[in-house]
This record gives sequence, structure tokens and C-alpha cells, in this order.
Amino acid sequence: MWMELRERRNRGWPWPDGDMSYLSGLYGEDGWCRSCGIPQGKQTGSLVLQSRALSPTGVWAPNLGRYICMEAPLADKARSDFSVDLRPVLFPSQLRHDPGNVEVQMFQLLIPRGDSPWFDPDELSNVLVAAHGEAGRLCEECGKWKWMPLIPDHLPAPSIPSREVAAIASQEWFGDGQMAFQLDAFSPGLAQLLHEAGPRDLNAIPWQHVA
Ligand SMILES: [Zn+2]
Repeated sequence: MWMELRERRNRGWPWPDGDMSYLSGLYGEDGWCRSCGIPQGKQTGSLVLQSRALSPTGVWAPNLGRYICMEAPLADKARSDFSVDLRPVLFPSQLRHDPGNVEVQMFQLLIPRGDSPWFDPDELSNVLVAAHGEAGRLCEECGKWKWMPLIPDHLPAPSIPSREVAAIASQEWFGDGQMAFQLDAFSPGLAQLLHEAGPRDLNAIPWQHVA
């Protein structure tokens, strides 16, 4: 069984401000497509969040799509109990210091992408055409396909591959315009840990899946 973590609110804004330029920090200047917003490779850099009005407590989703951040003690617990990868999240002031001397207060959960699709393409296409008038678009810049977005309740039941990981992202990309995101699934244990650490930030809901 897989769980979905659904954002109840967002906390924190990416740095630098504006557009989607924070993606250059995560994936490199040439590591994401300016046209469709899809990263072209693995994340190589740290997420940087503006410190203004952000208390890095518990677990939360910043205002930039589906990234999950957590305070350092919770990251230690997640790392010791589950097979998860975490990457330091930094404040802008910390970028001026030697990385070895920075006291990391928060971490991002890295969610590996699965290598097989979650959805039957015909079934997904039918649902998205009915909702949006089109299923998705092929990006002329990078050649990647992106499905139109839809809340999970209205999607067909996904077939999420079972793997020995505590979190997995869909092979499919979704989004409109420059927005691009994957769907995520979490093991019940990890979902419970994160929901209990941030009940006002994240809801844990079972994915209806047929695998
Ligand atoms: Zn593209």
C-alpha cells in the first residue's frame, strides 16, 4: 500500500525571487527546460529558502510545488527508520559560508523517480481530455511529454510499482505552462511519521491503486 501526502498549506518561499530561477540552483543553469519547466536530470544542488517569516519546524511544503522539507531532528529520525535520501536546505545567508561550517537546520526529502509509468496512457488521456480538452503537450524545446494537471481524486487509479523504497515519484510529469511536477507515493510508516510531525501542513491519504 502507498500513501499520498497532500499539502494543507505552504510555508516558505524559494530564493532567488521571481520566475522559476530557483530551479537553476537545484538542477544547474542548463539542467531544466525554460519552456516546460521539466528538470533534465537529477537534482544536484540544495534548495534555498528565504528566511523571512519561515520557522523551520516539523515538516512542511514550501510555495514551489511538491517539495517536502523537514527540521533536522525529524530528518535524523526519518534517516534512521527508513531508506530515504535527504539533502540540506539552506537559507541565503548560509551560501556565503563554507558548506562544512554551516549548521543545517532543515532538509529536503529526495524522492526517486520510478522507471515505469503509473498510469495506462489511454485511460489517463481520456480523463484529462474530458477535464481540459487536451491530454498534455510535447515540449518543442526538450522533447518531453507533460500531462495536464488534475487532482489525484479525479485521476484513474495508478499502478504504483512496489520497490524497496519509502518514497517514490511517478515517471509521468504533470503541469501546465512552466509548471512541472511528479506525483509522489510514500510508505505508510514514512507517511505517518511526516503527517504526525506536521498535521497542519500535510494530510496522509491512501492512494487508490491496483498494483
Ligand atoms: Zn521542455
